[in-house]
Amino acid sequence: MPSTTHEQFIRRVKEIQIAGSIESLLDWDQETYMPPKGAETRAAQLALIAGIAHDKLIGGDFGRLLEQVERETDGDPVLATNVREVRRVFDRKIKLPTALVEEIARTTTLAKGAWAQARAESNFARFAPHLEKLLDLKRQVAERIGYTTEPYDALLDEFEPGARVADVQRVFEEVKRELVPLVQALQTAPRQPDASILARACPVAQQTAFGLRVAEAMGFDFAAGRLDTTTHPFCCGFSPHDVRITTRYNEHYLPMSLFGIMHEAGHALYEQGLDPAHAWTPRGTAVSLGIHESQSRTWENLVGRGRPFWQHWFPKLQAEFPTLRDVKLDDWHFAINTVRPSLIRVEADEVTYNLHIMLRLDLERRLLTGQLKVSDVPAAWNEGLRALLGVLPPNDAQGCLQDIHWSLGIFGYFPTYALGNLYAAQFFEAAREAMPDLAATIARGELRPLREWLRAKIHCHGQRYRATDLVQEVTGRPLSPGPFIAYLNGKYRPLYGL
Ligand code: ZN
Repeated sequence: MPSTTHEQFIRRVKEIQIAGSIESLLDWDQETYMPPKGAETRAAQLALIAGIAHDKLIGGDFGRLLEQVERETDGDPVLATNVREVRRVFDRKIKLPTALVEEIARTTTLAKGAWAQARAESNFARFAPHLEKLLDLKRQVAERIGYTTEPYDALLDEFEPGARVADVQRVFEEVKRELVPLVQALQTAPRQPDASILARACPVAQQTAFGLRVAEAMGFDFAAGRLDTTTHPFCCGFSPHDVRITTRYNEHYLPMSLFGIMHEAGHALYEQGLDPAHAWTPRGTAVSLGIHESQSRTWENLVGRGRPFWQHWFPKLQAEFPTLRDVKLDDWHFAINTVRPSLIRVEADEVTYNLHIMLRLDLERRLLTGQLKVSDVPAAWNEGLRALLGVLPPNDAQGCLQDIHWSLGIFGYFPTYALGNLYAAQFFEAAREAMPDLAATIARGELRPLREWLRAKIHCHGQRYRATDLVQEVTGRPLSPGPFIAYLNGKYRPLYGL
């Protein structure tokens, strides 16, 4: 019997996503176990797979197949989700001429090297011409993709489908109005944490063992995933049945590995919680980077930096690490919640973090419209950081050259980090309403009920809802700055004796 159009369509979609998962597996191996001399071989393998994935999507008759299925979804909601999201990706690809895509690839290869060198020398001028060129190419991309109000939307849509920067900015502005004075108040607050206890020696082998126990308690399935070590921690899922996470270690800074593991395991629970029946199709794929980040931040911050979590885990931590045996639970909890305005985004605490993102969003938007000249980036960066956090980078390496994103041609990505924090707080508020004893449950060391709630409300839906609709569906209202602000005020003011 000949297969139906729908079956052909789904088979093709799966092939495209499976090819993508092979790329991820090759990337994972490159970051973890590949020997140094394997780089050239790996580049050839990746190029072949990327080519196959590209051809399967926009080559041959796939466009016709997609059109045909669009006419015949017959009210099937799963098919409707798959068709909607495949159309979005397909249009983004088909609208970009090969010459432009190749030009971007060539430019980013050079820009990445120039950025690394510029950062090493703390010399923005070396990177500036590359940034100029990349912005020009990205403007072309935005024009080709199309947008209603401003070019930034076309770029943001790649990472946060359906989001509009004006809406995001409005929420961010409200958060900023609250955060800037909060950060200032905490700096001069009567109580201050003793962060030096975080620097006590904790052997790496025990850090791994402890991190594994926490991840397991969270519900990470080690029969469907594993933990390894890399320079930069990440999570990648090839299917709900194979999800890899990584972390990094510092013997004199335990929070690096532990919160790294909780963060990545939060991402991993999302991947493991997707519906395996819809694997390799949009209906079985995570919604957006912002929603993904909300899952990691939930576990890292809302759970992992919360006092209930440590009521259960701190005695276990002390049993594992003798150097912490004289530390009181409250002092530990305060130390891991140290708030300090800093220069570097990736080292920022959960209060100041979003301000780093808002600076980047503001600059990216103005760069894209041409309001801000590339040569003025260092000055704009420094002035922006001073206004938001009261600190001034001593050089561009610790200022506008710190992130790799722009050198890779990635614009519109940064807001998803902050959106993740906001979504996380709003989801967590809904979880507490649904489970009034959630804090007590966590304090008993029972983390699975929260995972089950997240799985039922968020993970299992895949891309059934766009991020904005998912938030509405789960919390009963659109994304709002309220829960995040209430969370920070409710936690940090009492902690700092305000
Ligand atoms: Zn993350």
